[in-house]
Amino acid sequence: MNPRYAALQNGSKTRSISPSVQDLSSSENFGMHVFNRNTMQKMLRQEVYQNVVNAMNGQERIKPEFADLIAMAMKDWAVKLGATHYSHWFHPLTGSTAEKHDSFIEWSSLDQVIEKFDGKQLIQGEPDASSFPSGGLRSTYEARGYTGWDPTSPAFLWSGGDGVTLCIPSLFSSWTGDVLDTKTPLLRSDRKISDAVIRLLELTGVPATYVNSTLGWEQEYFVIDRSWRDLRPDLVMAGRTVFGCPSSKGQELQDHYLASVKDRMLSYMRDYEQQAIKLGIPVKTRHNEVAPSQYEVAPVYEKSSVAVDHNIILMELMQQTAVKHNLSCLLHEKPFHGINGSGKHCNWSLATDTGINLLDPTDTPENNIHFLVLLTAILNAIYDHSALLRASIASAANDFRLGGHEAPPAIISVYLGQALEDLLVNIETNGTHKPITNNINFDLGAVVLSRDTTDRNRSSPMAFTGNKFEFRAVGSSANPAFPITVLNTIVAESVNLIVDEIQELLKNKTGNKKAIFEAASIVIRKYLKRSKDIRFGGDNYSEQWKKEAKKRNLPIVEKSVDAFEVLKKKSTIDVFKGILNKQELFSRYDVLVEMYSHKINIEINLMVDLFRTHILPACICHQKELANSIGQCTEVLGNGKKLTKQRAILANLCEQIEKAITAADDLEESRQAAASISDLEEKGKAYCYKVLPKGELLRGIVDYLEQHVDDSLWPLAKYREMLFL
Ligand code: ADP
Ligand code: MG
Repeated sequence: MNPRYAALQNGSKTRSISPSVQDLSSSENFGMHVFNRNTMQKMLRQEVYQNVVNAMNGQERIKPEFADLIAMAMKDWAVKLGATHYSHWFHPLTGSTAEKHDSFIEWSSLDQVIEKFDGKQLIQGEPDASSFPSGGLRSTYEARGYTGWDPTSPAFLWSGGDGVTLCIPSLFSSWTGDVLDTKTPLLRSDRKISDAVIRLLELTGVPATYVNSTLGWEQEYFVIDRSWRDLRPDLVMAGRTVFGCPSSKGQELQDHYLASVKDRMLSYMRDYEQQAIKLGIPVKTRHNEVAPSQYEVAPVYEKSSVAVDHNIILMELMQQTAVKHNLSCLLHEKPFHGINGSGKHCNWSLATDTGINLLDPTDTPENNIHFLVLLTAILNAIYDHSALLRASIASAANDFRLGGHEAPPAIISVYLGQALEDLLVNIETNGTHKPITNNINFDLGAVVLSRDTTDRNRSSPMAFTGNKFEFRAVGSSANPAFPITVLNTIVAESVNLIVDEIQELLKNKTGNKKAIFEAASIVIRKYLKRSKDIRFGGDNYSEQWKKEAKKRNLPIVEKSVDAFEVLKKKSTIDVFKGILNKQELFSRYDVLVEMYSHKINIEINLMVDLFRTHILPACICHQKELANSIGQCTEVLGNGKKLTKQRAILANLCEQIEKAITAADDLEESRQAAASISDLEEKGKAYCYKVLPKGELLRGIVDYLEQHVDDSLWPLAKYREMLFL
């Protein structure tokens, strides 16, 4: 029997809903698998506890004399909850995370072990750095690398395979001190933006000791039945379908978006949400997305570095929990052709330790000059470094989504909304500054709704949404650390620049409010005018915008492979001072381009393999049946019956198969040619511009054949089967 039919037949057995038991409420469960402040306060003496809290806030280092005490408390807590192993958990440049488990045991006597964990083990680990991507920074014979405990993100317990592991968020560097992870630059960028913004707040008189960036991500994903995923080697290995024609029904009825969540899906969501809550991940929103079988989950926002960890943990949790429900969670940016792909909108803002959201103009209505300065600095930063922001979201996978109708194009621009736009135009032209109010209401009869200060512009890659910016171009499978690092870094540079100029103007004056306001207004006006071209409130999907962007001289980088090179530019090296050095930026360039080529190479291998071993045999079978049938009919009916239509179908089928064979041979040849290129940049471009178009050609023919070959012979799960749970 065709494996698809067998899967359909077995389906009813495996597609039952697994009940997930909720014993306690979310607030009672929250953070029970996290070594958090509550737990530490109970287990550590006050001065030790305070040291950890200060370290969590990035204000102090862990004092060496306290390390053993903290390690012991952490171990006792973890062992009580079933942990047998610990691991430094870090983010190498692979885009995912890495862990190497060690058990707590140590000899206590010749025949006896005890559980032990000390400060040295907590603070430092030593995995092999040569097996992770380093972009040439490390060779196989220069293996040593270090992981170091990052106290800014809490340790947590990971349950899996019936066991529990204590995971210690860590940073990763080489023996030579080169940064080899995505977390270190993020933490450094947070410090940089804190220092810059605190200078501004000191000037404007807003009380704060430090500032950190906040991140609230919205994770989109697909979920399909596991049996279909198992039938598709492309989904297993690349996370996306390299062949597959759209089903008769797609998303055109718009009947999936925010529709009631089906039982089976809800039970899966509840299951991973409960685990997330125990891990201290404040998951809040869940809903059906636009494409069939597409969903979204979003938490309450947190400090960026913690939010990044939580995003990565949740992605893992979602994938592992899906297996238990006989489901498969697809995080790829474009698993299915012809319907929306998935993004990870990154909502970003700046918050003070005193609880002020600095991008909320209504948070401090009596004194929000800092808001205007920050807004100006953000616009200026994005204007200066839009190519770098484009690079921060570049990947082979995101290219399938960017510029489609579900995601912004590869031109970075900013949408502010009418109210702010009017305000800025006012400042630019006559220097007046009217306060921003939010007092417009709608009367719907039964209720009165209050209106936000900004409308939404779904087509903008970077939209201001009232009290935060939403970076909408980030891909669903991406680690959000790099885009946030870039945002923090470039904005810090602009804030410093603007504060320098304000201070320069104030040099000989007393710093009273009026003087500060006047000086700030002059500088704001200058930078608003300078960066005006980055602002765009219209339809980013339109062709007209492309033309307009060209006129404005904004970078238009359609393909990711061309986006990476900005990492090696002087402007990037300068702005990244103190975050990543030149050598580290160059190595990141190498890693990204290499990864890009590997990804495409894998997908092309899959296409050729699937075509030759799955698709072609099915087509030939169908061709044979048709030919036999025509032959037999002619025999029975005599030569007078021409069977013109059937002969035409057969002839067309033969022709398409021939075309497909030629296309596959051609594709394989160009893949081999690209693979043999040694220069990384040249190689990436060959994959992009020479190999991928040939892949598209083959896909076109195969998808056509899918619609013309006997359904019972087609070996790959079809979209209509996968997409409607
Ligand atoms: P949308 O309507 O754009 O889909 P959602 O409500 O799904 O918005 O998600 C909004 C996201 O923005 C949430 O993750 C939320 O935590 C986040 N967010 C809200 N305020 C801030 C802030 N100050 N900083 C960062 N993220 C924020
Ligand atoms: Mg949302």
